[in-house]
Amino acid sequence: MTQETISKLRQISGLAVLTGEQIGADFCHDELPGSESYAPEAVCEASSTQQVSELLRICSCDGVPVTVRGAGTGRAGGSVPVKGGVVLSLRGMDRIIAVDEAARTMTLQPGVLLQDVKAEAERHGLCYPPDPGEKTATIGGNVSTNASGPCAGKYGRTADYVAGAEIVLADGTVTTLGADEGNRAVVGSEGVLAVVTEVTLRLIEAPGASVMLLLPFAESGAALAAAAKIAASDFEPAVLEYMDGALVEFSGKVTGNPVFPTEADGTPVEATLMLTLEGADEDAVESRMEEFAEFAEELECMDILVGDSLSMKRDFWAAHDAFHTSMEAAKSEAEVNVTLPPERLGDILSYAKSLGEQGGYQVMAYAHVESGGVHIHAVSELPKAEFKEAAEAFCDAVRTRCAQLGGDAAGEYGVGYANLKYFKGSARHAGLSEAKARLDPAGILNPGKVVEGC
Ligand SMILES: Cc1cc2nc3c(=O)[nH]c(=O)nc-3n(C[C@H](O)[C@H](O)[C@H](O)COP(=O)(O)OP(=O)(O)OC[C@H]3O[C@@H](n4cnc5c(N)ncnc54)[C@H](O)[C@@H]3O)c2cc1C
Repeated sequence: MTQETISKLRQISGLAVLTGEQIGADFCHDELPGSESYAPEAVCEASSTQQVSELLRICSCDGVPVTVRGAGTGRAGGSVPVKGGVVLSLRGMDRIIAVDEAARTMTLQPGVLLQDVKAEAERHGLCYPPDPGEKTATIGGNVSTNASGPCAGKYGRTADYVAGAEIVLADGTVTTLGADEGNRAVVGSEGVLAVVTEVTLRLIEAPGASVMLLLPFAESGAALAAAAKIAASDFEPAVLEYMDGALVEFSGKVTGNPVFPTEADGTPVEATLMLTLEGADEDAVESRMEEFAEFAEELECMDILVGDSLSMKRDFWAAHDAFHTSMEAAKSEAEVNVTLPPERLGDILSYAKSLGEQGGYQVMAYAHVESGGVHIHAVSELPKAEFKEAAEAFCDAVRTRCAQLGGDAAGEYGVGYANLKYFKGSARHAGLSEAKARLDPAGILNPGKVVEGC
Protein backbone atom coordinates (compact mmCIF):
# COMPACT_ATOMS: atom_id res chain seq x y z
CA MET A 1 0.00 0.00 0.00
CA THR A 2 1.54 3.31 -1.04
CA GLN A 3 1.60 6.72 0.66
CA GLU A 4 -0.35 7.97 -2.34
CA THR A 5 -3.26 5.61 -1.56
CA ILE A 6 -3.21 6.69 2.08
CA SER A 7 -3.31 10.35 1.02
CA LYS A 8 -6.31 9.65 -1.22
CA LEU A 9 -8.10 7.89 1.67
CA ARG A 10 -7.38 10.88 3.94
CA GLN A 11 -9.20 13.11 1.47
CA ILE A 12 -12.50 11.27 2.00
CA SER A 13 -14.63 13.66 4.00
CA GLY A 14 -15.24 12.49 7.61
CA LEU A 15 -13.33 9.19 7.27
CA ALA A 16 -10.88 8.54 10.13
CA VAL A 17 -7.63 7.04 8.80
CA LEU A 18 -5.23 5.52 11.36
CA THR A 19 -1.70 4.40 10.48
CA GLY A 20 1.47 3.28 12.27
CA GLU A 21 1.31 3.49 16.05
CA GLN A 22 -2.25 4.85 15.93
CA ILE A 23 -3.39 1.30 15.06
CA GLY A 24 -4.36 -0.52 18.27
CA ALA A 25 -3.47 -4.20 18.79
CA ASP A 26 -7.21 -5.09 18.77
CA PHE A 27 -7.37 -4.51 15.02
CA CYS A 28 -4.77 -7.24 14.45
CA HIS A 29 -6.75 -10.23 15.76
CA ASP A 30 -10.24 -11.44 16.59
CA GLU A 31 -11.45 -13.97 19.19
CA LEU A 32 -10.09 -17.05 17.42
CA PRO A 33 -8.33 -18.91 20.26
CA GLY A 34 -4.56 -18.80 19.78
CA SER A 35 -4.94 -16.56 16.72
CA GLU A 36 -1.90 -14.94 15.23
CA SER A 37 -1.59 -11.17 14.94
CA TYR A 38 -1.75 -9.51 11.51
CA ALA A 39 -1.25 -5.74 11.33
CA PRO A 40 -3.13 -3.73 8.70
CA GLU A 41 -1.33 -0.88 6.94
CA ALA A 42 -4.25 1.44 7.69
CA VAL A 43 -7.45 1.31 9.74
CA CYS A 44 -10.32 3.36 8.31
CA GLU A 45 -13.28 4.12 10.56
CA ALA A 46 -16.34 4.88 8.44
CA SER A 47 -19.50 6.65 9.51
CA SER A 48 -21.46 6.61 6.23
CA THR A 49 -22.19 4.54 3.13
CA GLN A 50 -20.72 7.33 1.00
CA GLN A 51 -17.36 6.97 2.76
CA VAL A 52 -17.41 3.18 2.32
CA SER A 53 -18.16 3.62 -1.38
CA GLU A 54 -15.35 6.15 -1.94
CA LEU A 55 -12.87 4.03 0.02
CA LEU A 56 -13.65 0.92 -2.04
CA ARG A 57 -13.38 2.85 -5.29
CA ILE A 58 -9.87 4.00 -4.32
CA CYS A 59 -8.76 0.59 -3.01
CA SER A 60 -10.04 -1.28 -6.07
CA CYS A 61 -8.23 1.15 -8.40
CA ASP A 62 -5.01 0.79 -6.40
CA GLY A 63 -5.37 -2.98 -5.79
CA VAL A 64 -5.36 -2.65 -2.00
CA PRO A 65 -6.96 -5.44 0.13
CA VAL A 66 -9.88 -4.35 2.34
CA THR A 67 -10.94 -6.39 5.37
CA VAL A 68 -14.24 -5.33 6.94
CA ARG A 69 -14.49 -5.42 10.70
CA GLY A 70 -17.53 -5.28 12.96
CA ALA A 71 -16.79 -5.89 16.65
CA GLY A 72 -14.05 -8.46 15.99
CA THR A 73 -15.77 -11.16 18.08
CA GLY A 74 -15.48 -13.74 15.29
CA ARG A 75 -13.71 -16.99 16.13
CA ALA A 76 -12.47 -17.94 12.67
CA GLY A 77 -10.10 -15.04 11.94
CA GLY A 78 -12.58 -13.48 9.48
CA SER A 79 -11.93 -9.82 10.32
CA VAL A 80 -8.14 -10.20 10.51
CA PRO A 81 -6.14 -8.61 7.64
CA VAL A 82 -4.03 -11.62 6.70
CA LYS A 83 -2.91 -9.91 3.46
CA GLY A 84 -2.38 -6.45 4.99
CA GLY A 85 -4.00 -3.40 3.39
CA VAL A 86 -6.96 -1.62 4.99
CA VAL A 87 -9.12 -2.70 7.89
CA LEU A 88 -12.47 -0.99 7.37
CA SER A 89 -14.15 -0.63 10.77
CA LEU A 90 -17.93 -0.12 10.74
CA ARG A 91 -18.40 0.14 14.51
CA GLY A 92 -19.14 3.86 14.11
CA MET A 93 -22.10 3.17 11.81
CA ASP A 94 -24.28 2.37 14.79
CA ARG A 95 -27.59 4.11 14.22
CA ILE A 96 -30.99 2.42 14.45
CA ILE A 97 -32.76 4.17 11.60
CA ALA A 98 -36.39 3.05 12.04
CA VAL A 99 -38.66 0.46 13.61
CA ASP A 100 -41.89 -0.19 11.74
CA GLU A 101 -44.18 -1.87 14.26
CA ALA A 102 -46.94 -2.60 11.74
CA ALA A 103 -44.58 -4.20 9.23
CA ARG A 104 -42.49 -5.68 12.07
CA THR A 105 -39.15 -4.55 10.69
CA MET A 106 -36.12 -2.68 11.99
CA THR A 107 -33.77 -0.78 9.68
CA LEU A 108 -30.33 -0.08 11.03
CA GLN A 109 -26.66 0.51 10.30
CA PRO A 110 -24.26 -2.47 10.52
CA GLY A 111 -22.34 -1.30 13.61
CA VAL A 112 -25.33 -1.60 15.98
CA LEU A 113 -24.61 -4.26 18.61
CA LEU A 114 -26.83 -7.33 18.82
CA GLN A 115 -27.72 -6.51 22.45
CA ASP A 116 -29.06 -3.11 21.30
CA VAL A 117 -31.07 -4.69 18.47
CA LYS A 118 -32.73 -7.03 20.95
CA ALA A 119 -33.42 -4.26 23.46
CA GLU A 120 -34.89 -1.99 20.78
CA ALA A 121 -37.17 -4.76 19.49
CA GLU A 122 -38.36 -5.38 23.07
CA ARG A 123 -39.07 -1.68 23.57
CA HIS A 124 -41.54 -1.99 20.68
CA GLY A 125 -43.12 -5.15 22.13
CA LEU A 126 -41.44 -7.26 19.43
CA CYS A 127 -38.67 -9.80 19.34
CA TYR A 128 -35.51 -10.40 17.29
CA PRO A 129 -34.85 -14.13 17.93
CA PRO A 130 -31.36 -14.99 16.55
CA ASP A 131 -28.97 -15.21 19.46
CA PRO A 132 -25.42 -16.38 18.84
CA GLY A 133 -24.49 -15.83 22.49
CA GLU A 134 -21.97 -13.02 21.99
CA LYS A 135 -24.24 -10.00 22.34
CA THR A 136 -21.49 -7.45 21.78
CA ALA A 137 -21.14 -8.59 18.16
CA THR A 138 -22.44 -6.15 15.52
CA ILE A 139 -25.49 -6.88 13.41
CA GLY A 140 -23.28 -6.44 10.32
CA GLY A 141 -21.04 -9.22 11.65
CA ASN A 142 -24.07 -11.40 12.44
CA VAL A 143 -25.47 -10.94 8.93
CA SER A 144 -22.08 -11.54 7.34
CA THR A 145 -21.50 -14.78 9.29
CA ASN A 146 -25.17 -15.82 9.27
CA ALA A 147 -24.75 -16.18 13.03
CA SER A 148 -26.88 -18.60 14.98
CA GLY A 149 -27.07 -20.19 18.39
CA PRO A 150 -29.25 -22.06 20.86
CA CYS A 151 -32.65 -21.05 19.45
CA ALA A 152 -31.82 -21.75 15.77
CA GLY A 153 -33.77 -25.02 15.80
CA LYS A 154 -37.10 -23.29 16.42
CA TYR A 155 -36.41 -19.80 15.10
CA GLY A 156 -33.73 -20.15 12.40
CA ARG A 157 -30.50 -18.28 11.75
CA THR A 158 -29.76 -14.59 11.09
CA ALA A 159 -30.31 -15.02 7.33
CA ASP A 160 -33.94 -15.92 8.03
CA TYR A 161 -34.44 -12.41 9.46
CA VAL A 162 -32.73 -10.34 6.75
CA ALA A 163 -35.58 -8.68 4.87
CA GLY A 164 -33.25 -6.44 2.89
CA ALA A 165 -29.86 -4.76 2.94
CA GLU A 166 -27.85 -2.00 1.31
CA ILE A 167 -24.49 -3.29 0.14
CA VAL A 168 -21.41 -1.73 -1.43
CA LEU A 169 -19.57 -3.76 -4.05
CA ALA A 170 -15.78 -3.91 -4.34
CA ASP A 171 -15.72 -1.22 -7.06
CA GLY A 172 -17.69 1.19 -4.84
CA THR A 173 -21.14 0.63 -6.41
CA VAL A 174 -23.92 1.07 -3.86
CA THR A 175 -26.75 -1.40 -4.43
CA THR A 176 -29.18 -3.63 -2.52
CA LEU A 177 -29.60 -7.32 -1.81
CA GLY A 178 -32.79 -7.32 -3.81
CA ALA A 179 -31.28 -5.62 -6.89
CA ASP A 180 -29.93 -8.89 -8.25
CA GLU A 181 -30.87 -12.44 -7.28
CA GLY A 182 -27.17 -13.31 -6.94
CA ASN A 183 -26.68 -10.56 -4.34
CA ARG A 184 -28.40 -12.71 -1.71
CA ALA A 185 -25.12 -14.68 -1.49
CA VAL A 186 -23.68 -11.69 0.39
CA VAL A 187 -25.53 -12.82 3.55
CA GLY A 188 -23.16 -15.21 5.32
CA SER A 189 -20.25 -14.48 2.95
CA GLU A 190 -17.98 -13.05 5.68
CA GLY A 191 -17.04 -9.86 3.86
CA VAL A 192 -15.58 -11.49 0.74
CA LEU A 193 -18.36 -10.38 -1.65
CA ALA A 194 -19.50 -6.93 -0.51
CA VAL A 195 -19.74 -4.58 2.47
CA VAL A 196 -23.12 -4.48 4.23
CA THR A 197 -23.89 -0.84 5.07
CA GLU A 198 -27.55 -1.02 6.10
CA VAL A 199 -29.86 -3.87 7.08
CA THR A 200 -33.62 -4.29 7.41
CA LEU A 201 -34.42 -7.04 9.88
CA ARG A 202 -37.65 -8.94 10.22
CA LEU A 203 -39.03 -8.98 13.78
CA ILE A 204 -41.63 -11.29 15.28
CA GLU A 205 -44.25 -11.06 17.99
CA ALA A 206 -42.62 -11.72 21.35
CA PRO A 207 -43.71 -14.98 23.04
CA GLY A 208 -46.16 -14.17 25.87
CA ALA A 209 -44.36 -16.17 28.55
CA SER A 210 -41.62 -18.76 28.96
CA VAL A 211 -39.99 -21.04 31.48
CA MET A 212 -36.53 -22.59 31.55
CA LEU A 213 -35.97 -26.14 32.78
CA LEU A 214 -32.79 -27.96 33.78
CA LEU A 215 -32.73 -31.76 33.55
CA PRO A 216 -29.63 -33.35 35.11
CA PHE A 217 -28.64 -36.90 34.10
CA ALA A 218 -26.29 -39.45 35.68
CA GLU A 219 -25.22 -40.61 32.26
CA SER A 220 -24.56 -38.59 29.11
CA GLY A 221 -26.01 -41.28 26.80
CA ALA A 222 -29.34 -41.00 28.65
CA ALA A 223 -29.21 -37.20 28.28
CA LEU A 224 -28.70 -37.48 24.52
CA ALA A 225 -31.47 -40.06 24.21
CA ALA A 226 -33.80 -37.78 26.20
CA ALA A 227 -32.81 -34.81 24.03
CA ALA A 228 -33.77 -36.75 20.90
CA LYS A 229 -37.17 -37.64 22.42
CA ILE A 230 -37.83 -34.02 23.40
CA ALA A 231 -36.81 -32.77 19.95
CA ALA A 232 -39.21 -35.25 18.33
CA SER A 233 -42.08 -34.32 20.71
CA ASP A 234 -44.61 -31.56 20.17
CA PHE A 235 -43.21 -29.42 23.01
CA GLU A 236 -41.26 -27.35 20.44
CA PRO A 237 -38.68 -26.03 22.90
CA ALA A 238 -37.23 -22.68 21.85
CA VAL A 239 -33.93 -23.87 23.30
CA LEU A 240 -32.64 -27.40 23.84
CA GLU A 241 -29.04 -27.43 25.04
CA TYR A 242 -26.88 -30.40 25.94
CA MET A 243 -24.15 -29.55 28.48
CA ASP A 244 -21.39 -31.89 29.71
CA GLY A 245 -21.12 -32.14 33.51
CA ALA A 246 -17.36 -31.63 33.26
CA LEU A 247 -17.84 -28.37 31.33
CA VAL A 248 -20.43 -27.11 33.80
CA GLU A 249 -18.10 -27.89 36.71
CA PHE A 250 -15.02 -26.36 35.06
CA SER A 251 -16.84 -23.19 34.06
CA GLY A 252 -18.61 -22.87 37.43
CA LYS A 253 -15.24 -22.96 39.22
CA VAL A 254 -13.79 -20.29 36.93
CA THR A 255 -16.74 -17.89 37.22
CA GLY A 256 -17.16 -18.59 40.95
CA ASN A 257 -20.91 -18.80 40.33
CA PRO A 258 -21.82 -22.48 39.84
CA VAL A 259 -25.42 -22.22 38.62
CA PHE A 260 -25.98 -25.65 37.07
CA PRO A 261 -26.16 -28.78 39.27
CA THR A 262 -23.07 -30.97 39.51
CA GLU A 263 -24.72 -33.66 41.63
CA ALA A 264 -28.22 -34.83 42.55
CA ASP A 265 -28.81 -36.86 45.73
CA GLY A 266 -25.08 -37.55 45.98
CA THR A 267 -24.82 -38.86 42.40
CA PRO A 268 -22.53 -36.87 40.06
CA VAL A 269 -24.25 -35.25 37.07
CA GLU A 270 -22.63 -36.37 33.83
CA ALA A 271 -24.77 -34.16 31.56
CA THR A 272 -27.59 -31.63 31.82
CA LEU A 273 -30.25 -30.57 29.33
CA MET A 274 -31.40 -26.94 29.46
CA LEU A 275 -34.63 -26.12 27.69
CA THR A 276 -37.08 -23.28 27.24
CA LEU A 277 -40.80 -23.80 26.85
CA GLU A 278 -42.90 -20.94 25.54
CA GLY A 279 -46.60 -20.14 25.55
CA ALA A 280 -49.11 -17.37 24.91
CA ASP A 281 -49.27 -16.45 28.64
CA GLU A 282 -48.26 -17.67 32.13
CA ASP A 283 -51.23 -20.06 32.35
CA ALA A 284 -50.38 -21.67 29.02
CA VAL A 285 -46.76 -22.12 30.10
CA GLU A 286 -47.83 -23.55 33.47
CA SER A 287 -50.00 -26.21 31.85
CA ARG A 288 -47.27 -26.96 29.27
CA MET A 289 -44.85 -27.48 32.14
CA GLU A 290 -47.21 -29.91 33.85
CA GLU A 291 -47.53 -31.90 30.63
CA PHE A 292 -43.75 -31.88 30.31
CA ALA A 293 -43.25 -33.17 33.88
CA GLU A 294 -45.44 -36.16 33.00
CA PHE A 295 -43.57 -36.71 29.73
CA ALA A 296 -40.21 -36.47 31.56
CA GLU A 297 -41.02 -39.49 33.74
CA GLU A 298 -39.72 -41.70 30.96
CA LEU A 299 -36.58 -39.65 30.31
CA GLU A 300 -34.37 -40.97 33.15
CA CYS A 301 -33.50 -37.47 34.37
CA MET A 302 -32.54 -37.17 38.04
CA ASP A 303 -34.60 -34.04 38.64
CA ILE A 304 -36.36 -31.11 36.95
CA LEU A 305 -35.22 -27.69 38.10
CA VAL A 306 -37.45 -24.78 37.13
CA GLY A 307 -36.21 -21.29 36.21
CA ASP A 308 -39.33 -19.16 36.01
CA SER A 309 -38.17 -15.78 37.31
CA LEU A 310 -36.31 -13.25 35.18
CA SER A 311 -33.29 -13.42 37.50
CA MET A 312 -33.09 -17.23 37.32
CA LYS A 313 -33.31 -17.16 33.53
CA ARG A 314 -30.57 -14.52 33.44
CA ASP A 315 -28.39 -16.67 35.73
CA PHE A 316 -28.87 -19.74 33.53
CA TRP A 317 -27.89 -17.79 30.40
CA ALA A 318 -24.96 -16.06 32.08
CA ALA A 319 -23.59 -19.45 33.19
CA HIS A 320 -24.14 -20.88 29.71
CA ASP A 321 -22.60 -17.90 27.89
CA ALA A 322 -19.51 -18.15 30.13
CA PHE A 323 -18.51 -21.59 28.79
CA HIS A 324 -16.25 -20.26 26.02
CA THR A 325 -14.48 -17.56 27.98
CA SER A 326 -13.98 -19.71 31.08
CA MET A 327 -11.88 -22.08 28.98
CA GLU A 328 -9.26 -19.34 28.78
CA ALA A 329 -8.46 -20.14 32.43
CA ALA A 330 -7.04 -23.51 31.38
CA LYS A 331 -3.27 -23.73 31.06
CA SER A 332 -3.80 -24.79 27.43
CA GLU A 333 -6.95 -25.23 25.41
CA ALA A 334 -8.18 -26.11 21.94
CA GLU A 335 -11.65 -25.50 20.58
CA VAL A 336 -13.59 -27.00 17.69
CA ASN A 337 -16.99 -25.76 16.60
CA VAL A 338 -18.85 -27.90 14.11
CA THR A 339 -22.41 -28.51 13.01
CA LEU A 340 -23.75 -31.90 12.07
CA PRO A 341 -27.04 -33.75 11.76
CA PRO A 342 -28.52 -33.78 15.30
CA GLU A 343 -28.71 -37.58 15.35
CA ARG A 344 -24.90 -37.64 15.02
CA LEU A 345 -24.21 -35.62 18.18
CA GLY A 346 -23.49 -38.73 20.26
CA ASP A 347 -21.01 -40.01 17.65
CA ILE A 348 -18.93 -36.84 17.54
CA LEU A 349 -18.95 -36.41 21.33
CA SER A 350 -17.80 -39.96 22.06
CA TYR A 351 -15.16 -39.74 19.32
CA ALA A 352 -13.77 -36.46 20.71
CA LYS A 353 -13.72 -37.86 24.24
CA SER A 354 -11.90 -40.98 23.10
CA LEU A 355 -9.20 -38.74 21.60
CA GLY A 356 -8.86 -36.99 24.96
CA GLU A 357 -8.54 -40.30 26.82
CA GLN A 358 -5.82 -41.49 24.43
CA GLY A 359 -3.97 -38.17 24.48
CA GLY A 360 -4.16 -37.48 28.24
CA TYR A 361 -6.20 -34.27 28.07
CA GLN A 362 -9.78 -33.47 29.10
CA VAL A 363 -12.50 -33.06 26.47
CA MET A 364 -15.83 -31.41 27.24
CA ALA A 365 -18.64 -30.05 25.13
CA TYR A 366 -22.02 -28.44 24.82
CA ALA A 367 -24.42 -28.56 21.89
CA HIS A 368 -27.53 -26.97 20.44
CA VAL A 369 -29.43 -30.24 20.04
CA GLU A 370 -31.97 -29.16 17.44
CA SER A 371 -29.65 -27.37 15.01
CA GLY A 372 -26.69 -29.71 15.58
CA GLY A 373 -24.22 -26.97 16.56
CA VAL A 374 -21.52 -28.50 18.80
CA HIS A 375 -18.77 -26.71 20.72
CA ILE A 376 -16.00 -29.04 21.82
CA HIS A 377 -13.14 -27.96 24.09
CA ALA A 378 -9.94 -29.80 24.98
CA VAL A 379 -8.02 -28.58 28.03
CA SER A 380 -4.58 -29.62 29.16
CA GLU A 381 -2.25 -29.02 32.08
CA LEU A 382 0.67 -28.79 29.63
CA PRO A 383 2.12 -25.37 28.76
CA LYS A 384 0.73 -23.95 25.47
CA ALA A 385 3.85 -24.69 23.42
CA GLU A 386 3.88 -28.33 24.52
CA PHE A 387 0.16 -28.85 23.88
CA LYS A 388 0.17 -27.12 20.47
CA GLU A 389 0.81 -30.18 18.33
CA ALA A 390 -1.73 -32.36 20.17
CA ALA A 391 -4.26 -29.50 20.03
CA GLU A 392 -3.92 -29.16 16.26
CA ALA A 393 -4.15 -32.92 15.75
CA PHE A 394 -7.27 -32.99 17.96
CA CYS A 395 -9.03 -30.20 16.04
CA ASP A 396 -8.08 -31.74 12.73
CA ALA A 397 -9.31 -35.21 13.72
CA VAL A 398 -12.64 -33.92 15.07
CA ARG A 399 -13.31 -31.81 11.96
CA THR A 400 -12.42 -34.68 9.67
CA ARG A 401 -14.75 -37.02 11.57
CA CYS A 402 -17.46 -34.34 11.46
CA ALA A 403 -17.21 -34.19 7.66
CA GLN A 404 -17.40 -38.01 7.50
CA LEU A 405 -20.58 -37.86 9.61
CA GLY A 406 -22.22 -35.51 7.11
CA GLY A 407 -21.56 -32.34 9.10
CA ASP A 408 -20.09 -28.91 8.37
CA ALA A 409 -16.59 -28.55 9.81
CA ALA A 410 -16.77 -24.74 9.59
CA GLY A 411 -19.55 -24.86 12.19
CA GLU A 412 -21.54 -21.86 13.33
CA TYR A 413 -18.61 -19.48 13.46
CA GLY A 414 -17.88 -19.33 9.78
CA VAL A 415 -14.85 -20.11 7.66
CA GLY A 416 -12.51 -17.13 8.02
CA TYR A 417 -8.98 -18.40 7.46
CA ALA A 418 -9.02 -20.92 10.31
CA ASN A 419 -11.56 -23.29 8.72
CA LEU A 420 -10.61 -22.75 5.09
CA LYS A 421 -8.90 -26.11 4.77
CA TYR A 422 -12.14 -27.92 5.71
CA PHE A 423 -14.39 -25.68 3.62
CA LYS A 424 -12.62 -26.12 0.29
CA GLY A 425 -14.32 -28.62 -1.97
CA SER A 426 -17.78 -28.08 -0.42
CA ALA A 427 -20.77 -27.04 -2.55
CA ARG A 428 -20.94 -23.71 -0.69
CA HIS A 429 -17.28 -23.02 -1.44
CA ALA A 430 -17.97 -23.51 -5.15
CA GLY A 431 -21.06 -21.26 -5.02
CA LEU A 432 -19.27 -18.47 -3.15
CA SER A 433 -16.26 -18.69 -5.48
CA GLU A 434 -18.56 -18.16 -8.44
CA ALA A 435 -20.19 -15.15 -6.76
CA LYS A 436 -16.72 -13.77 -5.91
CA ALA A 437 -15.65 -13.89 -9.55
CA ARG A 438 -18.74 -11.86 -10.45
CA LEU A 439 -18.90 -9.34 -7.58
CA ASP A 440 -15.21 -8.83 -6.76
CA PRO A 441 -13.19 -9.95 -9.79
CA ALA A 442 -10.03 -8.16 -8.60
CA GLY A 443 -10.26 -10.00 -5.26
CA ILE A 444 -9.70 -7.00 -2.97
CA LEU A 445 -12.38 -7.89 -0.39
CA ASN A 446 -11.11 -9.94 2.54
CA PRO A 447 -8.43 -11.91 0.65
CA GLY A 448 -7.09 -15.11 2.21
CA LYS A 449 -10.53 -16.16 3.50
CA VAL A 450 -13.54 -18.31 2.63
CA VAL A 451 -13.11 -18.53 -1.17
CA GLU A 452 -9.31 -18.73 -1.25
CA GLY A 453 -8.05 -21.50 -3.48
CA CYS A 454 -10.93 -21.24 -5.91
C1 LIG B 1 -17.70 -15.95 23.52
C2 LIG B 1 -18.17 -16.03 22.08
C3 LIG B 1 -19.25 -16.84 21.77
C4 LIG B 1 -19.71 -16.91 20.45
N1 LIG B 1 -20.79 -17.69 20.18
C5 LIG B 1 -21.27 -17.74 18.90
C6 LIG B 1 -22.40 -18.56 18.57
O1 LIG B 1 -22.97 -19.23 19.42
N2 LIG B 1 -22.82 -18.56 17.28
C7 LIG B 1 -22.20 -17.82 16.29
O2 LIG B 1 -22.66 -17.85 15.14
N3 LIG B 1 -21.12 -17.07 16.59
C8 LIG B 1 -20.64 -17.01 17.85
N4 LIG B 1 -19.53 -16.26 18.13
C9 LIG B 1 -18.78 -15.64 17.02
C10 LIG B 1 -19.12 -14.18 16.69
O3 LIG B 1 -19.73 -13.53 17.76
C11 LIG B 1 -20.03 -14.10 15.45
O4 LIG B 1 -19.33 -14.62 14.35
C12 LIG B 1 -20.46 -12.67 15.12
O5 LIG B 1 -21.44 -12.74 14.09
C13 LIG B 1 -19.32 -11.77 14.68
O6 LIG B 1 -19.78 -10.42 14.69
P1 LIG B 1 -18.71 -9.23 14.75
O7 LIG B 1 -19.42 -7.94 14.69
O8 LIG B 1 -17.81 -9.41 15.91
O9 LIG B 1 -17.93 -9.48 13.38
P2 LIG B 1 -16.36 -9.56 13.10
O10 LIG B 1 -15.72 -10.61 13.94
O11 LIG B 1 -15.79 -8.21 13.15
O12 LIG B 1 -16.39 -10.07 11.58
C14 LIG B 1 -16.84 -11.36 11.27
C15 LIG B 1 -16.83 -11.53 9.74
O13 LIG B 1 -17.84 -10.72 9.15
C16 LIG B 1 -17.27 -9.75 8.25
N5 LIG B 1 -18.04 -8.52 8.45
C17 LIG B 1 -18.30 -7.89 9.61
N6 LIG B 1 -19.12 -6.82 9.39
C18 LIG B 1 -19.36 -6.79 8.06
C19 LIG B 1 -20.11 -5.93 7.20
N7 LIG B 1 -20.83 -4.91 7.69
N8 LIG B 1 -20.13 -6.19 5.88
C20 LIG B 1 -19.45 -7.23 5.35
N9 LIG B 1 -18.72 -8.08 6.11
C21 LIG B 1 -18.67 -7.88 7.45
C22 LIG B 1 -15.81 -9.66 8.63
O14 LIG B 1 -15.02 -9.28 7.52
C23 LIG B 1 -15.52 -11.07 9.10
O15 LIG B 1 -15.25 -11.91 8.00
C24 LIG B 1 -19.05 -16.17 19.43
C25 LIG B 1 -17.97 -15.35 19.77
C26 LIG B 1 -17.52 -15.28 21.07
C27 LIG B 1 -16.37 -14.38 21.39
